[in-house]
Amino acid sequence: MNNVERIDKEINSLRERKVQLLKNRTVKCSYCEKRTALTNATVIRRFSYVPPSGCTDGAYWAFNGEYNYYCAKCGHFSRAYIFDWEKEGKTNNHVSSNPEKRKYDIDRVSLHVFIETHYSYFGEHLDDYDKGGTIDELREKDKKQKQAEKDRRW
Ligand SMILES: [Zn+2]
Repeated sequence: MNNVERIDKEINSLRERKVQLLKNRTVKCSYCEKRTALTNATVIRRFSYVPPSGCTDGAYWAFNGEYNYYCAKCGHFSRAYIFDWEKEGKTNNHVSSNPEKRKYDIDRVSLHVFIETHYSYFGEHLDDYDKGGTIDELREKDKKQKQAEKDRRW
């Protein structure tokens, strides 16, 4: 084995270790503060309806940038979204003086960043196209949606 092959082997082994570490992570519910292993955790992507525009573009659904983390331990949905100014690090002008609101903002931004970097490691992924419902309703709707997509491909 030459040096380049040795380095490639090391890179692959580090990559595997990284994936393993990411898989072992837990997500914390900002409501009940309990942690859940990512492999048992549910993440929901929220889609918004985009009406038709111009003469060629039909209506469609687009991911609106908001994730929800569903905590099975307390049944709470935590919203996770981030504003453009927060992405640019310009949070100072918008920080609320209300401590509860400030905690909510910090939690939703850090949860959003966490979900973005760990999305594929969550055990369950649901897509929501019409704003909400109970977790059972969301699972049922997601199942139907994925079935409909499969049927369209045939
Ligand atoms: Zn919880």
